[in-house]
Order: sequence, then structure tokens, then C-alpha cells
Amino acid sequence: MSAVNAYAAPREGDPLEKTVIERRELGPLDVLIDIAFAGICHSDIHTVRGDWGPQQYPLAPGHEITGTIAAVGAGVTRHAVGDRVGVGCLVNSCGECRNCLRGDEQFCTQGAVLTYGSTDRDGTVTQGGYSEQVVVTEAFVLKIPDALPLDVAAPLLCAGITTYSPLRHWNVGPGTRVAVVGLGGLGHMGVQIAHALGAEVTVLSQTLSKKDDGLRLGADHYRATSDRETFRELRSSFDVILNTVSAVIDLRSYLSLLDVGGTMVCVGAPGEPLSVGVMSLIGGRRSLAGSNIGGIQETQEMLDFCAEHGIAAEIETIPASDINAAYERVLASDVRYRFVIDAATFGS
Ligand code: NAP
Ligand code: ZN
Repeated sequence: MSAVNAYAAPREGDPLEKTVIERRELGPLDVLIDIAFAGICHSDIHTVRGDWGPQQYPLAPGHEITGTIAAVGAGVTRHAVGDRVGVGCLVNSCGECRNCLRGDEQFCTQGAVLTYGSTDRDGTVTQGGYSEQVVVTEAFVLKIPDALPLDVAAPLLCAGITTYSPLRHWNVGPGTRVAVVGLGGLGHMGVQIAHALGAEVTVLSQTLSKKDDGLRLGADHYRATSDRETFRELRSSFDVILNTVSAVIDLRSYLSLLDVGGTMVCVGAPGEPLSVGVMSLIGGRRSLAGSNIGGIQETQEMLDFCAEHGIAAEIETIPASDINAAYERVLASDVRYRFVIDAATFGS
């Protein structure tokens, strides 16, 4: 075991504080990663605040990790010391069930091991990327293309794949009319990816305050959901709506924006339920769906796609001491568009 500096929540709802966590000895298929950057996902905040139920504490969040390989186990073949790599929300799965075999490790029937707050194969609870180093089995380590700097690549490991996977699954491409609801961490990736896939993209944000950014990121249209005219004028005008909102929204209003046969995919994951009147679906043969990150192979495909299309996150880099202030800004929708922690500051 080795001790590494980290930031963790000591109890539910308490501010994160500097601490030391243990990393396991390198197994034959493990790699040791010197973390360079860790993104702050809204899921980190939901988790440590107990929005999704009780957790084991202390808990170090962080599942948007990039860095460099510092050491490899004796049997490692995919990666070498010095490689630029990333780790997302998954660090292990059974590898044998029908979902793992299809490349959907996130739906492993044995339960995927998540990067933090999850019971690992050895019975310990996983600790995330708000730390100096992490040990991960090689199959769950992604290669960061040379064209992507490590800081702006970090958010792709969750925000990137969480938007890429449903856009691909629902066949978004030229001619598809896509609305992205919420221009935060996920939303700003969803806009760039949907645009690169060739779709006509509309941002639905609470206000017009980020309109210039949305259009620069590739949106064709940008509308405020605080304006009721938006819902009247855009009625029945989308094929796919990607809902990235971290809070409860009125599904009926948004479903009315889908054309016949359209699908609203929820990736935003508030702790409270969203309610739906079935007439909103029946009235236009509409679908309400959800999507959960993406598998390992698809995550690599997304990273390569982003490198090829010049897509990356727009970030604000912070020292670890600013994590709690950054959480407050995320909760206030005051993030443009992802906070990324400089891992060199976890020890200071
Ligand atoms: P974020 O950066 O905070 O973005 C969320 C955006 O939602 C905000 O920027 C804001 O956009 C909008 N919003 C916030 N509160 C709202 C409200 N009360 N009403 C309407 N709109 C509101 O968060 P994120 O990191 O992108 O994560 C978004 C959600 O996705 C979280 O719930 C997170 O847990 C979840 N998530 C799910 C997965 C998955 O696999 N399904 C993966 C990662 C994250 P505007 O200011 O533009 O309105
Ligand atoms: Zn996330």
C-alpha cells in the first residue's frame, strides 16, 4: 500500500478537506498513474451531499482523471511508463456477462466498480481522482490522443462520453434536430459533439447569458427556457432532446418540443424523481429515455473523435484549496464550463 495526498469529504454534506488515502500495491495487470488533472463533475457534488443516498466516508470523488503512467505491473501489455492516459467513471467489471461482452461495462450484471464510492473486487471502497496517484487495472485505462492536452481532456472522461454515447445511440447526424438542455459541463460537450456529428443544434438554457458561448461551441440556435414563448414557438420541432440538467424540470413542457417519434434522453440525474404524464408521450409516439456514461471501447472512440474534430472541454483550472468554492459555483450554474483541479496542488 502507498499513501497519497487527496481531498475528501469527511462526512455527508461537509466541505472537502485535505487528507491522505491508500492506494493498493501494483497487481500484475495494474498501472500506477501520476494524476495531472481531475475534473469536477456535478455527480461528485450529488454524491458527497447524499443526493443519491448514503455513502461511506471519508470519500474522495473524481472520475475525470488524466495523467501519466508511472509504473506498470508485470503482465501489463496495453500501456507503458510515460504514456498519457485517462480514467473515467469505471475501474472494473466482471468482463464476462452479456453487457460487458457487448462493451457496455457500465451495465455489468455483477455491478461495475465505479471509480469512487464503490466496493472493489478486494472489498475495499474505491477512492477517486482528487488525489496525486491512482492504481487501475489496465483494461479500464484510456489512451489520451497526442492532440489533446491533459487538462482539457480530463472532462471528456465523464462529460464527454456521457453525451457522446446517447448521441450515437440515437443516431444523431446530418438532418437530426437536437436540443441540448442546460449549458454546463455535460451540455457544453453535448453541443460540440452533436455539431461535429452534423446535427442542427439548439441550446435550451435558463437564460440567454451564455448565448455567445453556445453559438461559438457550435449551436445553431440558443433559446431561454425562462421565456414561455420558447416552448410555444419550438413545439414539435426536435428529434432528440438531451437533458443534462442536474435539477428537476417540468418534463411535460420539454416533451411537447419533440416531433412525432422523437426521444428525450435524460442524462442529468437529480436526486428527486421527475414525473411524466403519459399523454405527453402518447400524443406524439414520443420516447423518454436515459443513458449512463458509456463503455470503455466507446470512451476511447469518443476521445479519438474529439481529437480528430478539435473538440475539448472549456475549463477553469483551480488549486485543490478552491474545490469547495468551485462546488458552490457549480450549484449556482456559474461554471464555464468545467472546473479542473491541478493535481500538483493536492499536497499543498
Ligand atoms: P453542471 O455543470 O452543473 O450543468 C448542469 C446545467 O443544468 C447548469 O449549467 C444549468 O444550465 C442547468 N440547470 C441547473 N439547475 C437548473 C434548474 N434548477 N433548472 C433548469 N436548469 C438548471 O452539471 P454537469 O456536471 O453537467 O452534470 C449535469 C447532471 O448530469 C448532474 O445531475 C450529473 O450528476 C449528471 N450526470 C449524469 C451522468 C450519466 O451518466 N447519466 C454522467 C455525468 C453527470 P443553464 O445555466 O444553461 O440553464
Ligand atoms: Zn461525472
